[in-house]
Amino acid sequence: MLYRAEISITKTSKGREWSMLTRRQFLIGMGAVTASTIFSLSLNSKVASPKDSMPADMNEKPEVFIPDCDWVIENTFIVDGSGQPAIYGKIAVKGENIAAIGDFQNPSGIKVIDGRGLVASPGFIDIHTHTEDYVYSGESMAPFLTQGVTTQVGGNCGRSPRDIAGYFSTVPSLAINYGLLLGYRTLREMAGVNNNKRASIAELTKMQKHLAKALESGALGLSTGLEYAPQHLATTEELTTLCHIVKQYGGFYATHIRSEYNGVIPALEEAIAIGQTTGVSVQYSHIKAGHEENWIKFPELLNMMESASSSGVDITADVYPYTFSSTDIGTKPLQHSISEENLNRAITHPLVFIGSDTGIYSGGRVNHPRAYGTYPRVLGRMVREKGLLTLEEAIAKMTSQPAKRLKLKNRGLLQTGCKADIVLLDPKTIIDKAMLEKPAVFSEGIRQVWVNGALSWDAGVQEDNMGQVV
Ligand SMILES: [Zn+2]
Repeated sequence: MLYRAEISITKTSKGREWSMLTRRQFLIGMGAVTASTIFSLSLNSKVASPKDSMPADMNEKPEVFIPDCDWVIENTFIVDGSGQPAIYGKIAVKGENIAAIGDFQNPSGIKVIDGRGLVASPGFIDIHTHTEDYVYSGESMAPFLTQGVTTQVGGNCGRSPRDIAGYFSTVPSLAINYGLLLGYRTLREMAGVNNNKRASIAELTKMQKHLAKALESGALGLSTGLEYAPQHLATTEELTTLCHIVKQYGGFYATHIRSEYNGVIPALEEAIAIGQTTGVSVQYSHIKAGHEENWIKFPELLNMMESASSSGVDITADVYPYTFSSTDIGTKPLQHSISEENLNRAITHPLVFIGSDTGIYSGGRVNHPRAYGTYPRVLGRMVREKGLLTLEEAIAKMTSQPAKRLKLKNRGLLQTGCKADIVLLDPKTIIDKAMLEKPAVFSEGIRQVWVNGALSWDAGVQEDNMGQVV
């Protein structure tokens, strides 16, 4: 990963060159080099080089690579999700998968999409949502597709469907790829634990069985919302017992920690200790040190994650790109759970990636703009306007990094053989339009979205049934 040490979190200079991409586009604009020159400059090991297929007998014509594919995007900057600099070239898709990337001759008679001036990226993967009821009711995925999101994980903060396999066998359609965590609150309900009491030994045994069954049937892990009743009654020992099972099944522990305010430091200590004891992968949900008097603690949270990580705990955090939380909304004057400075610290930190914390209701109603704006907001405001990250770095935080946490081997990267979840976006115009006063407004700048090789969003039209269970 390319994490630039020199990026200062307080730096807001608009003049900063924000990516390799900008530099190349500038060159094109100047007419200084031709497209083919740029291409040869940016060839790397992942791109098929025409020289590789040069025959020994120079009288023979060099072999031209023509991939077996259904359609092609050409003339585009490819940001592959790894964090590596963009390359200029083509993407070929066959069925659900990427067939080739780089330079090749198009097979005749196939559909060709001109990506001139645009960037092709892997579809964005949103690890932290509360969209399970919305998705189950078959509502429009437009709020997410207009952000370039092709995969979501629901069931966060302790609340989820009880029957994960049943959910996926009866969900009416999946327009995007979808995965679920089992919630700790839900698990308590399944085991019949009284809302005012700690779980008994017998109830904990029941929870262990339900959890194992959920993980067997496809749950990605266990989520908690330990700040909320009755989840606050969970003891560290109980969570440790449950996380041993999560670890056995290769899942992860997503935790809204016990306090996001005054008690944030011991709350994170507990999450790290659970990771240390059990070896479970820990996903620290929507990192923040809420209320102004706690902002000063924020760098310590990042330090704690760093030292846990270097001592072998697999811990990462997700953050949404807003200074106010949903509980801040309605406060007058508006409270900010996270300062601008801390938000920038989080977003530029190697152990932190993007997650929206979307909650959304019937008809697409929301109270927080993050449901409609998270991903374009990062690319438009934090990459293009503020230069906090390069485009490549930001896209890695939306693709390969969450894919790694989810252990998705075939998503989150634009590579031959990966699922063709592809976003074609305009880096010059991408922006969120959802605001606090008017939160349910589509973002701009996402041109087209493919989910598993099928066009799912194109100029305002959504197609259904393209998604898969992750
Ligand atoms: Zn939460």
